[in-house]
Parts: sequence; structure tokens; C-alpha cells
Amino acid sequence: MTQLILKKCKCCGEEFETNRIDQFFKNRLHQVSHNNNKQSILRKRLAKINTPILKTLRIYKDLIGIKSEIRVSKDFLRGKGANIAVFTHVAKLDDQLVNFLYDIAIFDQEDFIVLKKNKQC
Ligand SMILES: [Zn+2]
Repeated sequence: MTQLILKKCKCCGEEFETNRIDQFFKNRLHQVSHNNNKQSILRKRLAKINTPILKTLRIYKDLIGIKSEIRVSKDFLRGKGANIAVFTHVAKLDDQLVNFLYDIAIFDQEDFIVLKKNKQC
């Protein structure tokens, strides 16, 4: 015989009965709503950093297109709305430490930037 346990829903605090000790939500809708809210809060928290990164990535990818490498002026990139200060990580490329924006290697050349697609990433 299964015993019913009285629990409080993790999303709204409403009480519900269940026979499962691993059930934390009244039903699937409450679980989905709770997870969506958590994701939304996280997305908003990260947006300050992620938005300029993703915008700059889109601009770099559009400019590179089918080429493997391009040289662009920093002023032009700023004019397009890119944030030329952002990068996601530093990695070694041809024995040199290079800033990357995902799979794009960024080489600083005073007033210009060379963007190079990297298939190793
Ligand atoms: Zn709930």
C-alpha cells in the first residue's frame, strides 16, 4: 500500500499530496513554470555580459562571412556596435597566446583588428 505524503510545492508553496518522495512540484506545469522563472532570472543576470559578447560575435561572423581571416579598423567595428574589448577565452595558437571570441581569434594591431576563424575550437 502506498502512503500519501503532504508536501509544499517548490514553486508556489501550495500543498499537495503525493506518494513519491522525489516529487517537489504540485504537477508538471508548476515544475515548468519554476524552471522558466529560474532561467529567466539567470538570463537577466548574465545579460549585462552576454549581450555585448553575442552582439560582437554576430558582427564578427557577418564580417568574416566565408573568408577565413579579415582585417578591420577598430573605428569601423565600434561604428557597427561591436565591443572590441570582449573575448571569451585565451588560448595558444601557433605558440602564441591569443584572445578568442568563441571560435574567432582576435589579433590586435593598433587601429586594426585581425579576425581569424579557428577550426581547433
Ligand atoms: Zn507550485
